[in-house]
Amino acid sequence: MEFIIYLALVLFGLVLGSYAGATVWRLRARQLVADKEAGEHVDHKEYTQLKTLVGEKTSKDRSRCLHCGYVLHWYDLIPLVSWLALRGKCRECRKPIGIMEPLIELGTALFFVLSFAFWPYDLTTGLQIASLVVWLVAGVGLAIMFAYDTRWYLLPDRVNFVVIGLGVISAVLMIIQSSNPVGAILNVIGAVAILSGIYFALYLISKGRWIGFGDIKLGLGLGLLLGDWELALIGLFFANFIGCLIVVPLMATGKLKRTSRVPFGPLLITGVIVAKLVGVGIAEFYTLSLM
Ligand SMILES: [Zn+2]
Repeated sequence: MEFIIYLALVLFGLVLGSYAGATVWRLRARQLVADKEAGEHVDHKEYTQLKTLVGEKTSKDRSRCLHCGYVLHWYDLIPLVSWLALRGKCRECRKPIGIMEPLIELGTALFFVLSFAFWPYDLTTGLQIASLVVWLVAGVGLAIMFAYDTRWYLLPDRVNFVVIGLGVISAVLMIIQSSNPVGAILNVIGAVAILSGIYFALYLISKGRWIGFGDIKLGLGLGLLLGDWELALIGLFFANFIGCLIVVPLMATGKLKRTSRVPFGPLLITGVIVAKLVGVGIAEFYTLSLM
């Protein structure tokens, strides 16, 4: 039984990861068209390659090679498998098709498996299972934002709003299952204040120079998904800790300048996932060691 659940999680993760990868390109294409219409400078090559994605039906997205226009068949679109079989190159023109897609597919599958393996709450009632399902679906949105922010330093509004919506559902599920609903509501407010409020303060202080408004919305969605102020603090700690592990060596070797932009979204997403899955254990260990 366990094996079947894990197998299903891997398959669902790969398929939804593939959807996430396609959505990243569709959102980017929309962004470029909107930017161009607003009179902003856009990369001409990227714009010509991607603008065909706008207006096409979702089912037709990514159905062509961006370089030569080769129409992809179903066997070119199997998550991970097709990419590996073609070694990351277009079947027709042999130009590289990018490592982002297989990475999103693998990452989403890994997220699904780890979320089930480390899920800190019971999974016996329907409401408890619903909480995990909402978390997994939110994870697909987080995968899209992770990839988008890493590549283009932006968190798309549409996805942010979906994750906030799922966060509201998650928080409601948590509150109605709690033996102390008032405490649970305050807990959710605390988590949101920590993850979103701190960025809002930084945003105001720096007048939007350090972080974008997208980070504040992301913090809101993530705070709702965590629904616990202690976990929010742990998430923030991990986000900064992982950030230092990446940024300090890059700065020391001169690969990153003081003025370089660092996308904060992926760090916060990673920190919050770690906090959700192992944060309860850390909080308990910490409380025990204080006594
Ligand atoms: Zn091609």
